[in-house]
Amino acid sequence: MSVIYNRVALIGLGLIASSMVHAMRRAGLAGEIVGTSRSAETRAIAREIGLCDHIAETAAEAADGADLVVLCVPVGAMGAVAAEIAPVLKAGATVSDVGSVKQAVIDAVAPHLPDTVHFVPAHPLAGTEQSGPRSGFAELFDNRWCLIVPGDADADAVARLRGLWEGMGSFVETMEADHHDLVLAVTSHTPHLIAYTMVGVADDLRRVTDSEVVKYSAAGFRDFTRIAASDPTMWRDVFLNNKEATLEILGRFTEELFALQRAIRQGDGDMLHDYFTHTRAIRRGIIEAGQDTDAPNFGRAPKKT
Ligand code: NAP
Repeated sequence: MSVIYNRVALIGLGLIASSMVHAMRRAGLAGEIVGTSRSAETRAIAREIGLCDHIAETAAEAADGADLVVLCVPVGAMGAVAAEIAPVLKAGATVSDVGSVKQAVIDAVAPHLPDTVHFVPAHPLAGTEQSGPRSGFAELFDNRWCLIVPGDADADAVARLRGLWEGMGSFVETMEADHHDLVLAVTSHTPHLIAYTMVGVADDLRRVTDSEVVKYSAAGFRDFTRIAASDPTMWRDVFLNNKEATLEILGRFTEELFALQRAIRQGDGDMLHDYFTHTRAIRRGIIEAGQDTDAPNFGRAPKKT
């Protein structure tokens, strides 16, 4: 594969950015990769492991002269980073992000950017519960969806970014921001909230000792604990910035939960059996679509045929 951007700047050097470095290098998609992170500690680790070609001290220094700047910080920090880099952005450059929420990021970032750059938001549906510059790996995006939210961005700039994500192994789909946020509230954000809640509930059960929770941790609970180990800052920002869609899905979830609670109380075995038969069919549909996965990730793309 050939170089798509001569100089790529990654602002934030966590799981997603470090995986992008490995995936871009694997396919030779970037001439030069410059990275930066807020803390001196993370910048030092990135230098130590040779993550990028150059580690800049500030976001503005990293973005200066870049053809593509990707914001890889928590959703709540995107606006401040955009404000910092705006004065140095090269005319014709593309600014993108990898945030798990799209409308709030667009609202926070777009007002800072000059008209001379292309803003093309994106969200790779791939992740693990790990974070930081050491956690990345080249295969993270392989056969996973990346959703691009082009709005009215320049078609060539969108096509180039699509090429980058496809080159990093992803399937790419375009989507409106509000639809993205609703879809992700169903497939990722609310399931994460439920996992956090369930782990919290188990922790509250004083009759079950800590060691029993660990020792007899069955598959369901074990999976919840893995999801609930995800980065607290990232997930705090996701819920604060995708409030409406998450509350809508949580409302529906609560109604279903009450219906099941009543069926259990009333001994309504038929209702429970019908419900579980229906959900089992949904699971079969996901497997047939090639979207089953053991990874803590709710967005693997269909298998290539
Ligand atoms: P991560 O591993 O936790 O790394 C976060 C990075 O952001 C670090 O470089 C950190 O800097 C920096 N940062 C944290 N707070 C900041 C602030 N207030 N201002 C400026 N920089 C700040 O994160 P990640 O998992 O790569 O997530 C990055 C983005 O990708 C998020 O927007 C998230 O929604 C999105 N995303 C995550 C996943 C996932 O599963 N993890 C999947 C898809 C998309 P220091 O280390 O120097 O403090």
